[in-house]
Amino acid sequence: MKLEGPLGSEPFDRGRDGRSTDLASGRGVPGWLADRLNFCSSCGSSLQFGTIPGEDRDRLSCPGCGQIAYVNPRLVVTTLPITDAGEIVLLRRGIEPGLGAWAQPGGFLEVDETVNQAAIRETWEETRLLVEPGEIVGLYTRLEVAVVTIVFEARIVGGNPEPTPEALEIAAFAPEAIPWTGLAFKTTTWALRDWIDRRRPDLAWPDVIHGR
Ligand SMILES: [Zn+2]
Repeated sequence: MKLEGPLGSEPFDRGRDGRSTDLASGRGVPGWLADRLNFCSSCGSSLQFGTIPGEDRDRLSCPGCGQIAYVNPRLVVTTLPITDAGEIVLLRRGIEPGLGAWAQPGGFLEVDETVNQAAIRETWEETRLLVEPGEIVGLYTRLEVAVVTIVFEARIVGGNPEPTPEALEIAAFAPEAIPWTGLAFKTTTWALRDWIDRRRPDLAWPDVIHGR
């Protein structure tokens, strides 16, 4: 059944996390990702794309063993570490994507850890700061890269910031001094906007929130 909603090609409301993507919904697996999915991970047969009984959309599946190759986004877990002075810690990325640009620490959730653990681990690995994740600042869908990014506000409880293989530089920025034009990712921009909206509404004038 093809859903036709009041929003035309978007059958359901995209919600707040839809702000962080320009890509339309309902287009299936992105080409760059589909190109990597050729063989069944269970038996090695070539995958075929098409209708599958009981499934509500065409999918890749294996004609040999019947396994369906579901393609779902991965979760990226990140933090905005906040100093006692109310500054936000960002790192200048030492690796692609976003090499040389500023971003919040974070990375992919591992299959054997909780989201909270991943937030602490990734922040430690990239900044050598020990944090205690607090409120969720936001959850952001990035259809372009097949990820969903969660951003926690985090209290710094230990460690000393120092460059790491993944971070050329680590710095704390006052909300008034965020390097908007040098941010690595859309999710970084959205999260910083949302954090300022919530914690520093006194700064909610356009040049600060939307300057980039
Ligand atoms: Zn198979």
